[in-house]
Order: sequence, then structure tokens, then C-alpha cells
Amino acid sequence: MTASADIQAGRLRPDDYVENFNDVHPPLDRKRALIESARCYYCYDAPCVEACPTGIDIPSFIRKISTDNVKGSAVDILTENIMGGACARVCPTEILCEGSCVRNTQEEKPVNIGELQRYATDHLFDSGQQVFERAASSGKKVAVVGAGPAGLSAAHRLSLLGHDAVVFEARDKAAGLNEYGIAAYKVPNDFAQREVEFILSLGGIELRCGQAIGKDFSLTELRRDYDAVFLSMGMAGVNALGLENEDLEGVVDAVDYIAQLRQSGDLAQLPVGRKVVVIGGGNTAIDIAVQTKRLGAEDVTLVYRRGKDNMNATWHEQEFAQLNGVKIKHWAQPTKLMGQDGQVKEIEFEYTQLDDNGRLMGTGDHFSLLVDQVFKAIGQSFVPAPLMNGAADVLELSSGRIAVDEDRKTSLSDVWAGGDCVTGDDLTVAAVQDGKVAAGAIDRHLRG
Ligand SMILES: Cc1cc2nc3c(=O)[nH]c(=O)nc-3n(C[C@H](O)[C@H](O)[C@H](O)COP(=O)(O)OP(=O)(O)OC[C@H]3O[C@@H](n4cnc5c(N)ncnc54)[C@H](O)[C@@H]3O)c2cc1C
Ligand code: SF4
Repeated sequence: MTASADIQAGRLRPDDYVENFNDVHPPLDRKRALIESARCYYCYDAPCVEACPTGIDIPSFIRKISTDNVKGSAVDILTENIMGGACARVCPTEILCEGSCVRNTQEEKPVNIGELQRYATDHLFDSGQQVFERAASSGKKVAVVGAGPAGLSAAHRLSLLGHDAVVFEARDKAAGLNEYGIAAYKVPNDFAQREVEFILSLGGIELRCGQAIGKDFSLTELRRDYDAVFLSMGMAGVNALGLENEDLEGVVDAVDYIAQLRQSGDLAQLPVGRKVVVIGGGNTAIDIAVQTKRLGAEDVTLVYRRGKDNMNATWHEQEFAQLNGVKIKHWAQPTKLMGQDGQVKEIEFEYTQLDDNGRLMGTGDHFSLLVDQVFKAIGQSFVPAPLMNGAADVLELSSGRIAVDEDRKTSLSDVWAGGDCVTGDDLTVAAVQDGKVAAGAIDRHLRG
């Protein structure tokens, strides 16, 4: 990333970087965990369990915390969701378990399920114990493509069930977007890699980094050499604005920038503009807006083409961005990028509204913002090309992603898929559940 006069590294004092990218929710200590666990009613048919995509027995793990059986609590969590540690940090609990908690009323706050889950799983990770044991070997071998939450979850469950898993990962490190995408202050202290180590310590999982399907091997080869295949490559494509001048210096893909931020050993080296505009309305838009503000950008404006209720980012995330000084402007779409000497300087927007049929349309009124950096965060897309490269059979797609049934089985008899590369909620927890469900189905298939 090159720096121009207005896009500079080192805008803050060294201590500010540490503070700004520190753990956004400091962990509960024992006393606070005991107090919080005592707030749970241990509901029968608990709505929080229904709302958890991985179906963790929430009242059970909370009760164990209340009796100081923290290891037992962590086992409850990890049995259903092997990435329960990551999910405790990154799940939008306000629309999942905590959103459904019976204590979530106008007078009260929901039980802090996410923080309790973190308390239990951190306790286990810190102890360095392995609590799972593999079933007797089936002699079967499954290829997993992509070491993100979906792939790691599938590999762990397959290994538990007695199958060997070989995980092929294009990047240098495993963990997918937990390592390269999630906001830095949600998963500090190398948490993603610590979780990978815990998962691999079960045994029976071989991780091969720097190995990409479509480049180093083909789907046909995997189907020939393995008993089954699980595809979990996430979404490699980034949507473009479709405007002229999108190649100006300072117009940046948010996902790429976040990956650099997450891998940077020294945040003071990361160039950031003084005036930043973010275009989009989801997790990525919120994360890049907050992180550029925390890197020292003076003025960060997030612009979204519809209203606040239409944003994919939850109200909690929108509020978090605003508390961090991000301005959010709704009902406007970008129409023109203007530059000087190859560097973006100004961006023009048109106000939007819904027509009588509920379709989005421009109003004809415009406004402009002066800008040093424009971040594109208008969504990602699945790129099927690597799967087609050298493949004998073509996988069916649906809405641009891999088509799967409820078992996450694809149109090919020995291939399953899950996570962001199939249609779903595009959340870490949903990817983990896909991996778990697919592993169960693969197990049934392999055992005939
Ligand atoms: C910026 C950002 C912030 C987010 N924040 C949150 C959040 O706060 N909370 C939340 O719940 N969700 C969040 N999400 C969504 C969440 O990260 C994803 O839904 C989740 O990571 C999907 O898991 P996955 O395993 O399907 O894909 P990924 O995590 O994308 O992992 C896919 C893996 O496959 C590898 N791969 C790709 N191509 C190939 C290939 N050809 N061969 C081999 N390997 C390949 C990739 O390198 C990667 O490691 C965020 C997403 C983004 C982009
Ligand atoms: S809904 Fe709330 S009170 Fe009831 S079991 Fe779940 S966390 Fe506890």
C-alpha cells in the first residue's frame, strides 16, 4: 500500500495503537462470572438455545459456571461448537442467543451469554488440556478445502468420528477470516491461532497451508484420492462499485486492507487517510470504519444506500461505530469518483429513496465529500473458477454459490460444502454449524 501526502502512517502515539486495538470486551473474572451466571433462569425449552445456530446447551453451560465446574461448561460449549471461543468474541449475540433471552426486556438486560461462553472456553484453553478423544480409526480419509471456521469445524468433527482429515489452505495461516478478516480488537493476542492449535491438538487432522484448489490440485484429483471432499473456501471475490476512476490511488477494497491490518506487526506502519469514506452497510463496512478511526483518521463517514433498518450490520454494531466517532449517512449512493494526480480527492453521491414499488432509485439530488481514502465494502462473492479448473464434473451453483441440500451435500455424490461458499447467514457460527452438519453426513455416507 503506497502512502500519499494525505494518506499517512503513524498518525497516533505508540500507546494509542495499543489502547485502540486492545480487547474490546475485557474478559469476566470469576466473581463477575458467578454473578452473571446466577442471573440465568435455566429455562426449560430455552429460547436462547433455539436461537443459537450451533444449538449449544446454554442453560447447562451457565449452570456449570455457577457451580465452578468451568471445564465441564467449556466441554458443553465445544461439543456443539468447536469454535465456541471465537464465537464468544465475534457472534452478534444481540440478534442470536442474547436477543432471545427471556431477561431481554425493557427493564432488564439479557444474560451475558457471550461473555460467559468466553469465560468458560478461555479457562479451558489456558489450561492447555485436550478434552476430546477420537473414535477408533475408520481407515477413511477426507479432503477439506479451506481452513476457515467451516473447514476446521468439519475437520475436527470428522477426526472425532474416526476419519482422517487433510485440510488444504491457500494462505500461509489457517483460521480463514478469524485470522484475516474479523476486527482486530475482537480477537486480540493471536486468539485465532491459539484456537487452531487447540483444534489440531486432537490429532487426525493434517493441515497443508499454501495449497490452493484450482492451482496446486483439482477437485477431480481430490475425488480420486480421498473418500469424500468438503469444500469451504469462503468468498474470494469483492464487489466493485462500477464507477469510473475506481483505480485511483486511495480507492481500496476494505477486505484487503483489513487483512493487511490483521497481519501487520506494527499498526503504526499502516497508512490511513485524514478524511475517509466507507461505502457499504454490513460487518465489513462497520469494521473498516471503526478501525480506520482507531488508526487515527480524523473524519470517517460511512455511507449506505438504504435506511438503518436495512443495514446488514446490527443496531449494536451501528451504535458501536457511532460511539467510535464514525458518522453514518443513509439513503445515498456513490455516483462519481474524482481525483488529482492519480489520487482520489472527492466522491459524489446521489440521495436515494424507494419508489412506489419499493425499488431503490436516485432522487436526482447530489452532494460531495472531500476524501483521501474510499473503502469499498459492498459485499463479497463466491468465485467458482478454481473448482472448475481441471474438474471432470461441474458442481451445481445456486444464486452464485455452491448448491447444497440440508446435509450440505452438493450435486456431486462425494462432495459436501459449507460456510460462506454456500448460501446462508455469512456468520462465523453458521460456518461452524455447516462444517459440523456436513461432517455428520459424510460420516453416515462413509459408513454406508
Ligand atoms: C471483514 C469481515 C468481518 C467479519 N466480522 C464478523 C463478525 O464480527 N462476526 C461474525 O460472526 N462474522 C463475521 N464475518 C463473517 C465471517 O467471518 C464468515 O462468515 C466466516 O469466516 C465464514 O467462514 P468460512 O470458513 O466459510 O470462510 P473463510 O473464513 O473465508 O475461510 C475460507 C478459507 O478458505 C481459503 N481458501 C480460499 N480459496 C481457496 C482455494 N482455492 N484453495 C484452498 N483454500 C482456499 C481461504 O484462504 C480461507 O482460509 C466477517 C466477515 C468479514 C469479511
Ligand atoms: S433464555 Fe436467558 S434466562 Fe433463559 S436459559 Fe437462556 S440465558 Fe438463561
